[in-house]
Amino acid sequence: MSISELRTDPISGRKVLIAEDRAGRPNDFESTAAVPTSDPSFCPFCVGHERDTPEALLELLDKHGNWQVRVIPNKYPAVLKVGTERSETTGTQLLSTQPAYGAHEVIVESPRHIQDLTELSIAELSTVLLVYRDRLRHWSRDPSMRHATLFKNVGHKAGASLQHLHSQLVALPFVPEAISNELQAAKNFHDQEGACIFCKLLQEEINLRERLVGEEGDFIAFCAYAGRQAFETWILPTRHASHYEQLADDQARPLARLLQQVVRRLQTQLKPLSYNLVLHSAPFGEQASDSYHWHFELIPRTAQLAGLEWGAGVYINSLSPERAAKLLREAGS
Ligand SMILES: [Zn+2]
Ligand SMILES: [Zn+2]
Ligand SMILES: [Zn+2]
Repeated sequence: MSISELRTDPISGRKVLIAEDRAGRPNDFESTAAVPTSDPSFCPFCVGHERDTPEALLELLDKHGNWQVRVIPNKYPAVLKVGTERSETTGTQLLSTQPAYGAHEVIVESPRHIQDLTELSIAELSTVLLVYRDRLRHWSRDPSMRHATLFKNVGHKAGASLQHLHSQLVALPFVPEAISNELQAAKNFHDQEGACIFCKLLQEEINLRERLVGEEGDFIAFCAYAGRQAFETWILPTRHASHYEQLADDQARPLARLLQQVVRRLQTQLKPLSYNLVLHSAPFGEQASDSYHWHFELIPRTAQLAGLEWGAGVYINSLSPERAAKLLREAGS
């Protein structure tokens, strides 16, 4: 397996992982795939097929001693923990390259061949949410890593290559662009207003109610004011918390209930539902603990990204977030 490259675009500063090995990964949606892994008998994530995956980094056992959640290294990693995070940059001043340092894990979220988190019990999903926390805590203790992104691709349009319910975690020695942009905006707001911009925002959303989708315990879900795709929904703790690593054990159940409620409601509106769920949490350590506020961004893949999105970074959303939220509220639980 060759190590991927981390390249930085000399004009925009955009970071790109050149990871050719990943092209060989299984894709159970391609009709040309030799082994259709939508058939559980060929699925490497199903119970009984553990030998088809790299050795587990962590297995959470139920009371009968069977694994319930399994964390494994990604067999087709985009980044690898080889060498050091400060590996030498080579190439020219403009066209420089570095080995793509980092860690890439898969969290298999059920031994059963299920496809969405709505098929888990609340207790099972709570366990999964606590495993996310524990993996972030694990990587936060690694001094070579600065941030980890946890994400889930569900459905063909969202880029899922295996149907079996799972998430991925990518730990990196740098803060990704989407997070650093948010951090900067949050810091600017905090410097000027002395408050967390997310706390202010969710208070406004609670007062206005028109974009609210659901509330459970200390968590709230609303359609993003400037959502990039129809039904883009954010889920946040209502009490300020910068790092997902801070999640308390007893917060997992209400968060699980809200996540399931949001996805169920989306399933009534979008069939079949494809989405990306991405956790945005502050960089490891104390950094930004007053100004940043962790959240999930759930982006249903309702439209193809086209010229204006790719070429200019301007999104066209064909459904107002207010109407989307109303449809989701009317969809019931
Ligand atoms: Zn499976
Ligand atoms: Zn806050
Ligand atoms: Zn965000």
